[in-house]
Amino acid sequence: MTSLNDSRILVVGAGLMGAGIAQVAAQAGHQVALFDARAGAAEAAKSKLSSMLDGLVTKGKLTADAAQTALVRITPVEALGSADLVIEAIVENLDIKRALFAELEALLPPDAVIATNTSSISVTALARGMKQPERLVGMHFFNPVPLMKLVEVVSGLGTSPEVAQAVFELAGRWGKTAVHTRSTPGFIVNRIARPYYAETLMLLQDRAAAPELIDAVLRAAGFRMGPCELMDLIGHDTNFAVTHSVFAANFYDRRFTPSLVQQELVDAGFFGRKSGRGFYRYP
Ligand code: NAD
Repeated sequence: MTSLNDSRILVVGAGLMGAGIAQVAAQAGHQVALFDARAGAAEAAKSKLSSMLDGLVTKGKLTADAAQTALVRITPVEALGSADLVIEAIVENLDIKRALFAELEALLPPDAVIATNTSSISVTALARGMKQPERLVGMHFFNPVPLMKLVEVVSGLGTSPEVAQAVFELAGRWGKTAVHTRSTPGFIVNRIARPYYAETLMLLQDRAAAPELIDAVLRAAGFRMGPCELMDLIGHDTNFAVTHSVFAANFYDRRFTPSLVQQELVDAGFFGRKSGRGFYRYP
């Protein structure tokens, strides 16, 4: 088992999370290939990253050299390829992730590690059908990846302890605070966060308060962000999929029931920041 120190990384999924993971890995010195199933998406993610890094340079938070060095390490690719470590950040769907892992296993060397950034899907279930289930581990980053320190390293029933430890240490070298956890529905953060979002959505459904007021109240109570703006940041499509997954995994326990308010937002395509509109509108 390698230490993953100088690993060549393939990030699959160039959306909100994949782009952030690619940035953090590149800033830590790795060569990163970035792939997305949507043609042109990886290229577009790199251009966005480039503007964002330019912004940091302008603000004096990063040197122009460091920004350029990180950027050249990221290569958008139009097909899956080999790597020492794959970090998967595609849509929150069990069957689609499983199909990807089957495809990857045909391309990867036997000692390569596959890390999934799933927010909620059982790592044990995701590994089912893999030739080497021991190489799959959860590496759950938080949004926005460059700013959020926490990484949950999630072990499924078949995950090798060496693989979990290697990913744990890698996250530490990237400046993250890694924690080990077993694969249970929602892991730690999303298990606790589901009822928090659910109560917010109930308040909205009951017309008790508008999103602006709820956010202001929770900020005043000491939270960095209110729950409505946070759900807009996460993306309602992803958040709704996570709720469904945790609800099913808890044998449809009423506490985790998905909300009609969120269903409406998803049906309308109001995914939050990434689509320009959620609870709030974004330019
Ligand atoms: P996103 O919608 O922003 O991006 C997902 C990307 O994956 C899209 O660009 C899509 O084209 C691509 N994709 C879909 N299927 C693919 C496939 N088969 N192969 C390659 N690319 C494919 O979503 P996101 O918010 O970046 O979430 C990605 C993953 O990260 C999900 O599993 C989600 O649960 C998890 N996650 C999200 C957050 C968050 O706050 N949004 C936080 C932690 C973890």
